[in-house]
Amino acid sequence: PATLGMLGGGQLGRYFVMAAHRLGYKVVVLDPDPASIAGAAADHHIVAPYDDTAALHELASRCEAISCEFENVPAATLALLEKQKPVRPGASAVRICQDRREEKAFLRGANIRVAPYLALLPEEPIPAQASELLPAILKTAREGYDGKGQWQVSDLDELASALAASGVPCVLEQRLALEGEFALTLARSPGGAISALPLVQNWHSGGILDQTRSPANVPTLEREAKGIAEPLIAALDYMGVLTVEFFLVEGRLLVNELAPRPHNSGHPSLDNAGCSQFELQVRALCDLPLPEQIAVRPALLINLLGDLWQNGTPDWAALLALPDLHLHLYGKGEPRPGRKMGHITVTGDDWSTVEETCCKARQLLGLAPR
Ligand code: ATP
Ligand code: MG
Ligand code: MG
Repeated sequence: PATLGMLGGGQLGRYFVMAAHRLGYKVVVLDPDPASIAGAAADHHIVAPYDDTAALHELASRCEAISCEFENVPAATLALLEKQKPVRPGASAVRICQDRREEKAFLRGANIRVAPYLALLPEEPIPAQASELLPAILKTAREGYDGKGQWQVSDLDELASALAASGVPCVLEQRLALEGEFALTLARSPGGAISALPLVQNWHSGGILDQTRSPANVPTLEREAKGIAEPLIAALDYMGVLTVEFFLVEGRLLVNELAPRPHNSGHPSLDNAGCSQFELQVRALCDLPLPEQIAVRPALLINLLGDLWQNGTPDWAALLALPDLHLHLYGKGEPRPGRKMGHITVTGDDWSTVEETCCKARQLLGLAPR
């Protein structure tokens, strides 16, 4: 059978391996961590840094096409691999998504609304316009995730010290009064066909996703989101799975950020959809047909962070006694606070049952109700 390559070895890579196996492919994972969970699930794990040229040549020689599961793959790595095998998404799209300055400039250039922002460098004086954005959030331009690399700043002094502490290029974003957060995960094939999962609604806690509702069930917003995301994915000439994160502000959507990969908020599709976001990733990578319609059932997702292990392992048996509850544990080693260890998806035929079960699950886990 054909073999696919995966850059990155976390839970997203692990689900990619599972989806690829189901469709009859073998998978080679490249990840520097010998304990990589995707590496363990794959047919072969190359343990090497992402910029190790010999390892990249080995990966390219072992597989027919390559995808990634995190946005911080060095652009040079993707460029080198692209010379040898199809890489989807490609270097030019990932380069935009991995730097908030490029991402926002691209979005603005495409006439897509983003939060008011300024790009700042730690070695340069803070421009006067910065004060108009306060209170604001300072975000490192690169490498942030789960709210890491962000500082809440309410005056210029706080901004100056946060920027100095960061020591790297940043964007300063106006702190907006969010009426809601939403995400759309979609796939685009090399031929330009597009397939989208339903719009989902997200609730964060401390910058980390806590709960997702799929589908969000707001048809007007879903139309608005698709109207933004479909031209956007085409403008990027993007091949693969992309998630667009949205903020709802004053009744309208603006784009928070782009994730050039499957997304935590797309996980309900593993249990409530006719095609999961990882199957979409495999299909787009291999230029297989994308589904025209993806039917979904009501679902709520709860993330299981390492914090839940503080007083020992949660009582999985009690959770599994609940109806239509799907437990996913990623098999990671150390349950550190804030670390994504797994998730739960509750599905059902109607929202009231799903909400009731979800409420019970949160209670059993000791999580505050949503
Ligand atoms: P991810 O894990 O999704 O990649 P990230 O670290 O890249 O997260 P963001 O998505 O930029 O971070 O922000 C994390 C969360 O912080 C958002 O989902 C939102 O809840 C809040 N947030 C970010 N920017 C703003 C803003 N400008 N105004 C209000 N809240 C914000
Ligand atoms: Mg991000
Ligand atoms: Mg985000």
